[in-house]
Amino acid sequence: MILSANKSVTKRKQALDFQQLGLSEETLATLAEVGYDRPTPIQAALIPLALEQHDLLGQAQTGTGKTAAFALPILELVELKPNKPAAIILTPTRELAVQVSKEVQKLAGKRQLSIVCLYGGKPMQGQTNQLKKGAAIVVGTPGRVIDHVKRGNLSLNEIEFAVLDEADRMLDIGFRDDIEYILKRCPQARQTLLLSATLPPAILELAKRYMNAPKMVNFSLNKVAADTIDQFYLLVPDEIKFDILLDLLKREQPQQAIVFCRTKLGTERLYRKLFKSGAVNGLGTIHGDLAQSSRDRMMQDFRDGKISCLIATDVVGRGIDVTGISHIINFDIPELSDDYVHRVGRTGRMGKTGVAFTLVEPLQRSELAKIERKINRRLELDPMQTHVDQMAEEKLGLKPGAPPKSKYRRAL
Ligand code: ADP
Ligand code: MG
Repeated sequence: MILSANKSVTKRKQALDFQQLGLSEETLATLAEVGYDRPTPIQAALIPLALEQHDLLGQAQTGTGKTAAFALPILELVELKPNKPAAIILTPTRELAVQVSKEVQKLAGKRQLSIVCLYGGKPMQGQTNQLKKGAAIVVGTPGRVIDHVKRGNLSLNEIEFAVLDEADRMLDIGFRDDIEYILKRCPQARQTLLLSATLPPAILELAKRYMNAPKMVNFSLNKVAADTIDQFYLLVPDEIKFDILLDLLKREQPQQAIVFCRTKLGTERLYRKLFKSGAVNGLGTIHGDLAQSSRDRMMQDFRDGKISCLIATDVVGRGIDVTGISHIINFDIPELSDDYVHRVGRTGRMGKTGVAFTLVEPLQRSELAKIERKINRRLELDPMQTHVDQMAEEKLGLKPGAPPKSKYRRAL
């Protein structure tokens, strides 16, 4: 008995090839061209089921290739009907909509498919014109998609595929009614795919109401933060966080870094201060108060490597995929432990190594403990702590004798 159970596990573990998943020659050729040698585990699991036209609920940690997992089956199954979109992909943020549409475009290869990306903060007209020319696949944020539906620019009557990407995040943001509005207007005989890092009751409820006997594909394995990411923290009084950030950047010389702050205002302030200091070359910032055109430009410059250090709110914490990111610095510890996981997940993508640092203010130790419980792992105290303590004493007159290491920590 045990033997056969083991056997089946080994069998399942054997890496599959894209050739074994039921994809067309055309798609296989594109995959070779874009350099995807092997499917990721979630792709190997999802693609065959999606090609059999099942509704699917996919749960997997970030950076596991979920986009291609839904994009490839869509590209195989979508029938071209000019003016009649056959697939709609909803994402929580504008940046993610752009990224997903680029990935779909890349995977479409030589297929003559028009992919239109709809998101707010941009004039309607350009998007309307694109829709008028005919769109096979629409990617967008729920609000803007609804705008186009209401104005009669976009018809959902012929949708064969609906995808909810980062579904838990969309519900967090409050897109529930918008998602329902859209799904209600799609034909019932469609295929629905839902991707989410977590499956809280609200997601399961949505699945029950709008999906048809969905199959679950779970790859979360309780491994919320990738193993390839080294994670450190420093206990730093608010007054000297900026100095310590400078020292950290100087020591680490990141190839590319995202520095996360909690608020839009804090992000803008830190950006200006860093800019003035002249300490960082290739500095950028992205947050919700910036015009969409600047947000787009910043993201593009970051992808192109023109920006090496991006100061950001959690707006880029989800789903954004830039492979060169070597460092995540939490200038402010995130309010929600989930956000920690998503921020840190921006590095260490696709098996690369990455490192994350979190600056913890003295009164935030319990928040650190909460994160550690969430990821079921302790962050390591960075050796620079001695330097921080010295500076705290010199600048703020804080007595050294800071509590010994063990007292910094709370029991998990
Ligand atoms: P997720 O949505 O799970 O966070 P993404 O779909 O954004 O992950 O994919 C992460 C990165 O991996 C992207 O840069 C993508 O181009 C790349 N990628 C996806 N699948 C493969 C594959 N089979 N081989 C190589 N790279 C891949
Ligand atoms: Mg994704």
